[in-house]
Amino acid sequence: MKKSISIIGSGFSSLSAACYLANAGYEVNVYEKNAHLGGRARSFEQEGFTFDMGPSWYWMPDIFERFFADFGKTPSDYYELVKLSPAYRVFFEKKEHLDIPSSIEEIYALFESIETGSAAKLQKFIESAGFNYKASMDELVYRPGNSILELVTPDTISRVNQFFSTIRASVRKQFKNPKLIQILEFPVLFLGAKPENTPAFYNFMNYADLVLGTWYPKGGMYKIVEGMVSLGKELGVNYHVNSSIGRIVTSGNVAKGIEVNGKIIHSDMVLSGADYHHTETLLPKNLRMYSPTYWENRTFAPSALIFYVGFNKKVDSVMHHNLFFDQDFDQHALQIYDKPEWPDNPLFYTCFPSLTDDSVAPEGKENAFFLIPLAPGIKDSEAQREKYFEMVMDRLEEHTDQSLKDHVMFKKSYCVNDFKADYNSYKGNAYGMANTLRQTAFLRPKIKSKKVENLFFTGQLTVPGPGVPPALISGKISSEMISKHLLKQIDHAVI
Ligand SMILES: Cc1cc2nc3c(=O)[nH]c(=O)nc-3n(C[C@H](O)[C@H](O)[C@H](O)COP(=O)(O)OP(=O)(O)OC[C@H]3O[C@@H](n4cnc5c(N)ncnc54)[C@H](O)[C@@H]3O)c2cc1C
Repeated sequence: MKKSISIIGSGFSSLSAACYLANAGYEVNVYEKNAHLGGRARSFEQEGFTFDMGPSWYWMPDIFERFFADFGKTPSDYYELVKLSPAYRVFFEKKEHLDIPSSIEEIYALFESIETGSAAKLQKFIESAGFNYKASMDELVYRPGNSILELVTPDTISRVNQFFSTIRASVRKQFKNPKLIQILEFPVLFLGAKPENTPAFYNFMNYADLVLGTWYPKGGMYKIVEGMVSLGKELGVNYHVNSSIGRIVTSGNVAKGIEVNGKIIHSDMVLSGADYHHTETLLPKNLRMYSPTYWENRTFAPSALIFYVGFNKKVDSVMHHNLFFDQDFDQHALQIYDKPEWPDNPLFYTCFPSLTDDSVAPEGKENAFFLIPLAPGIKDSEAQREKYFEMVMDRLEEHTDQSLKDHVMFKKSYCVNDFKADYNSYKGNAYGMANTLRQTAFLRPKIKSKKVENLFFTGQLTVPGPGVPPALISGKISSEMISKHLLKQIDHAVI
């Protein structure tokens, strides 16, 4: 009889693990508490608009290709990708902006036009970033995070200093122009921590940004979810929505299954892709690995205030992706990480996918997504949300010289309380636990429970970390560990 595996949650890490485990011959059931699959990458439709609720940047296309190639497929079997050109626009103070081109040669020229000598420096910086990208994606990020030795390779030994200096120090040593500094410090924000707390080795994110480019799946990011679910179904995975797990069923210290909407379902293994902290609350206290103090002392990625907006006209002077770096970054970061409070003058991000894709908004209208990073756990109220909507709309109108507020057909907000209620997210974090030096690789929460036999974890709170590509990788790592574990159990049974 096939061994059975219950997977909690349907985020990218769970969807990835489900495909690998079904392909390895196990009976796989995915249980999602919400009505739609995809976790933080769900989408919704309103008045002819289609909104991606979470991720919007498609970076590291090679990781998606590798995922589908593991099943003899390519992303193009499931969705059509377009490369954005320019990749994105950055707004600065004094109503200035820069467009980041889609080719590295044009980026060198852009840098040189702003700071003499910076093209050559960028070339060297990118060489190092490319080396680190290859070292990481070929090997390091696919390791299970069991031991420090996993990080010891000839490549990392030659760059050990980059683990003890920061991305901020390494950028600022070479570049002086504040705009160039902001462009080079931006990509590590995807890892959830400040550039001064992120090891310089993570400059591979700059390689992902400037060399590999920014892509978009036609129809929206949800097309990736649909593609992975479709692949999973081809492989025999069963998906269950509106299926909230109330507890992990244990006998002694062995996981025996899950309780779904009050009903017990037995399985040989349990894999959770729900937020790690929440998953442990589904166990008796003595079987949890990490204490409340442990979680309290971690650096979490920010939460966010998000607006999904339908405009009744096309919006001018913006790109598909727009970063508003027109306010003091350090002050906003302080109010996220060090002194958690609502930011006085936040940086924000806005995305207009209907500029690239007619299918996500009715003709002549614009689909908009606004995101303000916030401290996790911050008190969230309707009044605060409204105040910040006014603020971002004022800034957008001012920078782009057009009236927009009168053209809002509808808006939906999403913030800390929604992250908690919808995803059981710790303090309402948006994208998990940050990748700081002390929260990297073997220092992250473990994939295999040390206290409960047959219980495994996947997702953005474990290895390798936050983001869609890491979630795909996390699913692969956890599924390989489960397969090995099951084989070991069979060996023992035979002996
Ligand atoms: C607003 C936002 C913007 C982002 N932007 C980007 C981006 O542009 N590019 C990028 O690469 N990444 C981005 N990310 C990060 C990326 O989306 C995440 O890292 C990734 O999707 C996380 O996947 P996951 O599998 O770890 O978990 P999740 O997507 O959180 O999935 C966990 C699932 O478990 C379910 N669950 C929880 N508790 C239970 C329970 N008791 N029973 C059953 N189910 C349960 C939840 O409902 C959820 O569906 C963004 C994230 C957010 C929120």
